[in-house]
Amino acid sequence: MKIVNHRLYNDDDTPVPYRSTPNHGSEIKDLKYLVMHYTAGPSAEHSINWLVNPLAKASAHLVIGRDGSVTQIVPFNTVAWHAGSSSWQGIKGLNNYSIGIELDNAGPLEKSGDSWRAWFGTDYPAEQVIEAVHKNETYMRAWQLYTPEQLYVALEISALLVHTYKLEDILGHDDIAPGRKSDPGPAFPMDTFRSRIFGRSDDEPDSETYETTANLNIRVGPGSAFQTLSVSPLPKGTRLQATGEENGVWKEVDVVGEVKGSSDVRGWVHRGYIRQVV
Ligand SMILES: [Zn+2]
Repeated sequence: MKIVNHRLYNDDDTPVPYRSTPNHGSEIKDLKYLVMHYTAGPSAEHSINWLVNPLAKASAHLVIGRDGSVTQIVPFNTVAWHAGSSSWQGIKGLNNYSIGIELDNAGPLEKSGDSWRAWFGTDYPAEQVIEAVHKNETYMRAWQLYTPEQLYVALEISALLVHTYKLEDILGHDDIAPGRKSDPGPAFPMDTFRSRIFGRSDDEPDSETYETTANLNIRVGPGSAFQTLSVSPLPKGTRLQATGEENGVWKEVDVVGEVKGSSDVRGWVHRGYIRQVV
């Protein structure tokens, strides 16, 4: 993909779909950050229709659907209304300093029989769910997973935006409005994004050692339908050694050393929440 005149284009020079909105400010004078969000809505289309509605008084620069489709709503050099009351490192009102990306995702879910229910009433199967402790919270909750297609596109666009606009960092809405906001939440692999985009690209680690980037469940099989091991959740920063077995987004690992008094722990983890370490 590429950026021309603050609009996003595909590699074949076609622009990504654009929906204009009245919900924007003037030119961004000092662009520093990329801010990631989830929509907490039932579909990308639903969220886009809302963000172009003047009643919403909200917008974002991009919405990325679960199939990886991208819609632009506001040009990258124009203030979008995604951050609200927010602050980061002494800066207040991050709308004036950032590009905002919304990812189609239901957000936190509540147990409902065999499945998980969003606040708007839709049920999701266990395969789409991760149970994790939000970094601003102290208890386990369920969150809808992002799709691999969505994360792949989001990573490509994030890298393009960071390099084009020389952005200093990628932040979550939950970083700049903690307590008030919990998106993109523990299902979003923020540490992976940061290390892939800001890490040294000339020094790719080739070791098969990983660490968890969040408190992370480890399971007896490759999928969230499989039972968790008794040592779950693994604390953030737990060292893991890959066995080489993979299944979709799931990876079989051995825990390095001891965790919660147990050694020789082997199980399956979601690879969106681990990163390679040298
Ligand atoms: Zn948000």
